[in-house]
Amino acid sequence: MVQPQVEFGTDFIEETVFLTVHELERQGQQMDLAMRFHEERSRRYEAPDEIESTRFETLYLNFFNELGLKQFFYRLLADFPQFAEKNARILIRRAFGRKSEGAELFVRGSERTVVTGLQTTRILDLGFLKSYLNHEWMRISDMLDPDFKYDVHASLNADNEIEENLNRDRFRVLWDLSIVSRLLNRGGFSYRDMGNLKRQFERVFSTWLPEDRDSIYDAATKRWPISQKSLIDFSAVVGRKRCSETAPVRCPLCHFTTYQLVNNWEDDRARICSVVAEDYPQWIPEEGMCAQCFELFRSRKKVGYSS
Ligand SMILES: [Zn+2]
Repeated sequence: MVQPQVEFGTDFIEETVFLTVHELERQGQQMDLAMRFHEERSRRYEAPDEIESTRFETLYLNFFNELGLKQFFYRLLADFPQFAEKNARILIRRAFGRKSEGAELFVRGSERTVVTGLQTTRILDLGFLKSYLNHEWMRISDMLDPDFKYDVHASLNADNEIEENLNRDRFRVLWDLSIVSRLLNRGGFSYRDMGNLKRQFERVFSTWLPEDRDSIYDAATKRWPISQKSLIDFSAVVGRKRCSETAPVRCPLCHFTTYQLVNNWEDDRARICSVVAEDYPQWIPEEGMCAQCFELFRSRKKVGYSS
């Protein structure tokens, strides 16, 4: 099998080695290795004739190997043959926060580079790290797969911005479902929970006809290969008969998108309006609110009036 070319950031190597050695010391494991690390490290400090940047680099690289960290990434990459087949360069870099973590594919001409940003503390939980990388790399692997026919400029088939956001949410849920199902099928696992994803799916497809919803769920979780275009087509409203024929609108209270606003305030529902007015003095009952806000204020009214 062709090995992918992997490059680790120098600070990523240093920090992950440092954190791993400290964790071993804390747990009282492999004390001889930890001691050897500190000895060699202080010996390098005393070798002033070597070039500053390289004298520590080799030390950390050696321990990165010895601690099995390098092998951890290579073993995992073996499950993603698309990378080596497409001759992709893999860069693993240090990320400074949750938001800058994740894998991205860069294409320039025939060059393909997969940049993966990770917080170095992830190295202390290899189980989670494995499930995280499985998910991220499966997504990139799809992008490289000719059957997926990935197009970075693919249209989301939307008439307006609200529709486009909804289509994107649905598309992402479907792709995540496809990734998690395939990982589970081959005995792997993702950090994304299947139960959570299913609930998300039901929420974002809530206005679809039940039989449509079921067949889309089946396609996303059981069919492979599937193309990006099929997933987008499943996500878009265009050409589809929805349960609700109305266009999406924004709730005046929470600003989330909804297909139907509650604006019937007859009988005891009128009392909810006075509760809403406490928080939203500008709001008038004729504007209505989404079903989620309605439920929230109704339950608050119940609590408020029960005593
Ligand atoms: Zn709302």
